[in-house]
This record gives sequence, C-alpha cells and structure tokens, in this order.
Amino acid sequence: MRFVPEKKSLLGESLESFESEILAADFPKYRAKQVFDWIFKKRISDWDSMKNLPKAFLEWLRINYVIDPTKILLDKQSNDVTQKFLIQLEDKRLIETVLIRAPQEGVGLDKSRKTVCVSIQVGCAYGCKFCASGLAGFKRNLFASEVIAQLIHMSRIDSPKLEQSSNESVSFDNIVFMGMGEPLANYNELVNVLKIMNASWGLNIGARRITVSTSGLAPEIEKLADEGLSIRLAISLHGATNEVRNQIMPINKRYPLEVLIPAIEKFREKHGRMVTLEFILIDGVNDSLEQAKALVKIAKRLHAHVNCIPYNKVEGLEWKRPSITRQNKFVQILKDANVSVTIRREKGHSINAACGQLRLKKELEMAEQEPSPSSPFIKPNIEN
Ligand code: SAH
Ligand code: SF4
Repeated sequence: MRFVPEKKSLLGESLESFESEILAADFPKYRAKQVFDWIFKKRISDWDSMKNLPKAFLEWLRINYVIDPTKILLDKQSNDVTQKFLIQLEDKRLIETVLIRAPQEGVGLDKSRKTVCVSIQVGCAYGCKFCASGLAGFKRNLFASEVIAQLIHMSRIDSPKLEQSSNESVSFDNIVFMGMGEPLANYNELVNVLKIMNASWGLNIGARRITVSTSGLAPEIEKLADEGLSIRLAISLHGATNEVRNQIMPINKRYPLEVLIPAIEKFREKHGRMVTLEFILIDGVNDSLEQAKALVKIAKRLHAHVNCIPYNKVEGLEWKRPSITRQNKFVQILKDANVSVTIRREKGHSINAACGQLRLKKELEMAEQEPSPSSPFIKPNIEN
C-alpha cells in the first residue's frame, strides 16, 4: 500500500512552493527564507530553535509540517574511514546512508575527502543478481525530504558545531546516489532532491559534486540530460555484452546495450559531461579477457571513464570477487587501450558495506523476531 505521511516535511519543500503556501495562509512571503535558513543552513531539528519567528506563524508551521521525518537508528563504524547508518522512516521502514572519509596524504582525518552515499528507495525493484538491495525487493519510493534528511543527518555527524557558527551548508566533497534503490525509477523526487541540494536557499551543493548512479533506464537517462542540472552520471554496466549483462541485470532485457549505449551517447552530447561506467568484477562472470575487450570498445565509443569495483560479498549469494592478479589483468587491458580507468578497492567491507546489505541484515533479524504481513521479501517485479 502507498504510504502517505500525515504531514509534509519542510525538508522536501522548494522555496517557490513553500512561499505560495505561506502567502495562502496570510503570512508574509519572507518567512519562507527565514525557515529555510534554520533548517538547511543551521540544520536545527526542533521548532523551539526558530527564534526569529512569531508565535502564530510557528503554530501554523507546527500544525501543517514536520521538520525531519526520519531518525538515525544505528550506526556501525567499520573503521576510521567508513561509517554506515540505518535510518528509520515514519512508517518504520529502514534505509541506509554511508559517510566515507577518505584520508588525504599528509593531512589528518578531519581534512579527509568526504563522500556521502544516499538511498533513494526502500529496497529496489530491479533485482540485479549480485545486489543486496535487489534481493529484498521493492517497498516504496522515498520522498525528497527523506533523501535530504539523510544529508542533514550526515552533516550534523560530520560537523556538529555548525549550528552555532555560520551560514554555511553541508561540506561534503561528493554526494553519490549509490545507496539503496534506483534513482531514475524515482525520477520526480530525484529531480526535486537535486534542486534542493543545488539551490542557494537549500543545501547549496555544487552539482559537480553530485553523482547519480543508474542501472540503465534509457528513457530517463535522456530525460535527465534536459533538466539543466550539471550533475555527474554513472552507469552500472557490469557486463560488456548482452549475454553477460542479461545474466546478472534483468533491466538489460528491457534496455539492452543497443538501446542503452545510444541513450548514454545522447546524454553526453546534450550534457557535455564525461560519464562513468561502473564495472563490478565478479569472478568467472564478467572478468574475462573478452569482456575487457568489449568494455574497451564501449568506453571508447562513449569517451567514458571506467570504474572497476571488486565484488563485495553479499550474504546468501554465491558470487565472489576475482583474485587480485585477475583484477589487475582486467584493468591492464583497459589501460593498454588508453581507456581512463580506476579500480576502487572499496572501504568498509567489514561492515557489509555494499549497497543494501546492512539493512537487509537488520530486516532479517527483525523478521525473525516478529513476522509481519509486510515482510520485506517481495519478489522483484521485473521479468528475468
Ligand atoms: N541502482 C543504482 C544505484 C544504487 S547501486 C545502480 O544500480 O547504479 C550503487 C552501485 O553499487 C551500483 O553500481 C551497483 O551495481 C553496486 N553494487 C551493488 N551490489 C554490489 C556489491 N555486492 N559489490 C559491489 N558493488 C555493488
Ligand atoms: Fe537496484 Fe542498483 Fe541494486 Fe540493481 S544494483 S538491484 S538497480 S540498487
């Protein structure tokens, strides 16, 4: 059943729509900016902190809105670098957000590069065979407010003192939509989120710092190019031929490579930005010489950067990562062909760091305690 929250959250409002609501309720329009200052710049989480607002207006706000519809349930520190959080939504569903602090040479951890990985859906309907989010099936789309809330939580954890100090917004180097869910399957809310993230009245994050990752929804890729947002796009390719991609990504049946690649090409032409091809290396599945050669062809045609990621083990799935020698061989073929390539030896392996795994584990534990009719294990709704 569709979840409809009792009240809207301020974190999902745009300035324009909030101003018109305020005007309609007979309050002055400039109040909107004051409220946004409290929630987006000073990151407060309670009404009482909004000190410059008259009582009657505050009362109206309280009746009609909530500030943040989420709360942090659990954090698991894998090491100094990766911190993973479970966040609970109003309907008690769980999502996860990851804060990654990658140390820079010669500087302390506080000066590290910071990346936040956000979720955009509860679960995922696309059922990729290697992915924990796909394994649990799809529950629902997140609202823009629930995505923005993830960033606000992370920024409070990252710099708790900001509240008293300044007008500054969140200070992450990168935000990646690589948590749970398929961003382009929650298209309208994704665009709302990107606008709030980017706006000077919102989180004021440069679009270049934002990466949207997609498993390859060709029509939405083209649509996204027209939104006028200078975000980065990453494509989860994971197979360089239809034969291999069909085995692990059901979406490839709907949008096979001969449809997907031209859509990426169009995105690149309209948008003018280099696209990244994500390629998980799975032992014996997509790590052959032939796959590397086919990947070279695609990367060259798209002028794309390739990011190889050794597969991160998911409990209950049989896939594993290739040996380091095999990983290196694969990458070398790309390098020898002058393809721009990196290999991400990802952090946080020790706390189920790959997409969706922490949540899956927690839901399994909860399901064991109290089996419920809304059990998470709905079958993916895409034909295999
Ligand atoms: N649905 C989007 C974004 C979320 S997944 C997408 O598929 O692109 C983010 C990235 O994590 C994707 O590239 C996905 O393929 C990858 N991923 C999923 N499970 C993984 C695993 N077990 N090990 C390594 N990467 C994984
Ligand atoms: Fe969904 Fe992305 Fe996982 Fe595929 S890889 S199941 S699209 S979250």
